[in-house]
Amino acid sequence: MTSSGQLNRHIVVRFAPSPNGLLHLGHAYAAMVAHDFARSRGGRFLLRIEDIDSGRSRPEFVTAIMDDLRWLGLDWDGDVIFQSRRLESYAAAAARLRSMGLLYPCFCTRSDMRKLQEDGPQPEGPDGPIYAGTCRHLDPELARDRAATEPHSWRLDVAKAAAMTGSLEWVDERHGNQSSDPGRLGDIILVPKDTPVAYHLAVTLDDARDGISHVVRGDDLFASTGIHRLLQALLDLPTPIYFHHPLLLDDKGGKLSKSRGSASLSVLRTAGEDGYGLVQELRAGIFPVGISLSQA
Ligand code: GLU
Repeated sequence: MTSSGQLNRHIVVRFAPSPNGLLHLGHAYAAMVAHDFARSRGGRFLLRIEDIDSGRSRPEFVTAIMDDLRWLGLDWDGDVIFQSRRLESYAAAAARLRSMGLLYPCFCTRSDMRKLQEDGPQPEGPDGPIYAGTCRHLDPELARDRAATEPHSWRLDVAKAAAMTGSLEWVDERHGNQSSDPGRLGDIILVPKDTPVAYHLAVTLDDARDGISHVVRGDDLFASTGIHRLLQALLDLPTPIYFHHPLLLDDKGGKLSKSRGSASLSVLRTAGEDGYGLVQELRAGIFPVGISLSQA
């Protein structure tokens, strides 16, 4: 509801955590920003569990995410959405891109990739070093035969895709008007070897399917938006408005993460701390000692 009590059906925002660990303060901040963005405009706030990586996702983390959000007082609308229940739609989109001649199988292993980097370091793309394109040049028939027996991922031929779409634009409410430079994205993987779909394809399809009007998420995903915008153009999907918020940083200026020792929300919750009070402090820009907000 807005302050005037009006529900705005056009505003739909989501929080989309991956349940492969416990949430920490950085997630609480991200969830609060997305929640408040929706609520202050009278919009809907959805919870989507991004559990496509079945090797890393755990049901206990899903439970903890829901308990943490309730504890923080960040309520969501409707049923929780699970990406693991949507695998067919991702496979259908990948098949469509393949039939458009935009995907090619890639047989490179991690050690091949490391060697490529040693031979000549590639510039950084949104997913790390830009792929040098080795498998893009394979003879298509040979690649098809190899794909029948060898493990492979499927990469987007970004140059070909960009030639179809031309330059693309979108709006970031915090960073201003953006336009794409797809050449700098590199041939990203859309179907990995070992999981049914890559984050980029799943998130783009789901933001459209869930009617997300505003994608509110952290600045760490700012560079990925060009990929999502490209996929929207290729798959005839609407383009939401984006809002990339600053990140909470630790005392060394690094992004908060569990591996860097940030306390999980569930530890605070089970210790009887006040989750609602914590969110009120985050809202007021009051952070624990040593934690600050990125500036970019
Ligand atoms: N699932 C992603 C993550 O946990 C976030 C996806 C998004 O907000 O676009 O980092």
